[in-house]
Amino acid sequence: MPRAIYPGSFDPITYGHIDIVQRARKIFDELIVAVVTNPSKQTLFSLKERRKLCEQALKEEGIPVQVITWEGLVIECAKRYRAQAIIRGLRANSDFEREFQMALTNRDLNGDIESVFFMTSGEYSFLSSSIVKEIKSFGGDVSRFVPPSVERALERKLQKT
Ligand code: ADP
Repeated sequence: MPRAIYPGSFDPITYGHIDIVQRARKIFDELIVAVVTNPSKQTLFSLKERRKLCEQALKEEGIPVQVITWEGLVIECAKRYRAQAIIRGLRANSDFEREFQMALTNRDLNGDIESVFFMTSGEYSFLSSSIVKEIKSFGGDVSRFVPPSVERALERKLQKT
């Protein structure tokens, strides 16, 4: 029963992330989305908010996936949830070096857990949470990039800030 975790900041979750979830679910019996803290990234939404948004978005899309939060090393999260693999998504060239470095570091920390990469679909290859936040902060339409619940949460959050 191969089980995988899909870790990320998900600040907020986009259709690009959801595309990766759907691809990974075809291969793995069980997939857990892990919303993690990243000390080098400042987030718009809190950890709890990001988790809730992931849950709502995946529910809206009809994808039954468990969503958890994790503060600490991703490799420890995989161990704790007895996952054999860590899923990551790849967009353009720019993702490769960072992901390569992270995968090798994680393998160094625990050689039993594999990193598995899924290519994004063409339509989401340029999409990132940062771009969505940027467009929305200028009042642009992000309905093609995020589910309705996420768009509403962005509206509320950006009104406050
Ligand atoms: P992190 O801070 O861990 O990079 P992100 O939420 O930015 O968190 O991304 C989580 C994972 O999802 C990463 O592997 C990233 O490359 C991938 N990802 C993000 N956006 C997309 C997208 N549009 N298509 C495919 N993969 C994506």
